[in-house]
Amino acid sequence: MMAGKPDILDLTLEEIEQVAERSGQPAYRAKQIVKWLHKGVGHFDEMTDLPQSFRHSLYEQFRIGKIQILEKHRSKTGYATKYLFLLSDHNIIECVVIRYRYGNTLCLSTQVGCRMGCKFCASTIDGLVRSLSMGEMLGQVIEVNRDLEEAGERGIGHLVLMGSGEPLDNYKNTVEFMKMVHIPMGINMSCRNITLSTCGLVPRMIDLANEGLSVTLSVSLHAPNDKLRKLIMPVASAYSVADVINASRYYFENTGRRITFEYTLIKDFNDRKEHAEELAELIGGFPSHVNIIPVNEIEGLGFRRSPEKVIHRFIQVLESRGVVVTRRRELGFDIEGACGQLRRSFCSGQKKQHYER
Ligand code: SF4
Repeated sequence: MMAGKPDILDLTLEEIEQVAERSGQPAYRAKQIVKWLHKGVGHFDEMTDLPQSFRHSLYEQFRIGKIQILEKHRSKTGYATKYLFLLSDHNIIECVVIRYRYGNTLCLSTQVGCRMGCKFCASTIDGLVRSLSMGEMLGQVIEVNRDLEEAGERGIGHLVLMGSGEPLDNYKNTVEFMKMVHIPMGINMSCRNITLSTCGLVPRMIDLANEGLSVTLSVSLHAPNDKLRKLIMPVASAYSVADVINASRYYFENTGRRITFEYTLIKDFNDRKEHAEELAELIGGFPSHVNIIPVNEIEGLGFRRSPEKVIHRFIQVLESRGVVVTRRRELGFDIEGACGQLRRSFCSGQKKQHYER
């Protein structure tokens, strides 16, 4: 992280209120500040409805930590755009905008790299570098919103915490971020329009259920039993499938939000009819749906995509047992759309050195 003044984007609303109070300003100044920050201003002088002396005092105490768009890649279909961002310590993260009929969704990163070790994922190959601050998560939304606005496009209407990193492994910053984007004067994102994806950190899933945030929880299951799951997800050695399902049920009971179970379909591994039957058996009893994701064939990881007829059979078996199934749209193949791929190819090339100079 850059030394020097703290980044005001890392402060919660309550903390900004305390800053205002210390300067003899009313608490509502905090919401004015959040409004400007979330609009993407780069300097306190642009906060024109604050008294000049207060703007100066903010400048003396804080910086506005901007993250910088390094590269932008739009898919041939036009549905997805991937952004690479440079952080203040020269680390690089990525996020992707997906254009749906109902609006634009931003899939953002919560960590630089990841330590969860899922075998099918490019983000984890070099392990965890560090967790992102709340300000760096906000920065992704702010900068992409600004970029979309400049292009005359709609802003971000949905957030998906499904880029690089395990959000619940960066629990405090992630929860504060979700509270911050919810503030009406700022980004003003409804909790219902936020989806958090976890590989199944059971104690943190329980904590999140108790937060009173009704965000959608998306649980990466990827296998219908412990034996298979342990082969592709190290987290399965800490928490059994039964524990993950129980925590998911608890989340539903506390929030009323239907759970999404993510299931990456891998050829000759977890794509058999018996696996679909076992999965259907496992997840009954509370509202949920299964999202089928044909695996991304990432070089060096060795997983193959199931043939179309096998994918269809798997979905049919689930549906015949009353499971609600969706299939993830694949929009980003030509821009290395899978989690962590673009950052990896960027960092392994020469270009990163240029930005480190
Ligand atoms: S799938 Fe998610 S939790 Fe698993 S290694 Fe990749 S980023 Fe981490």
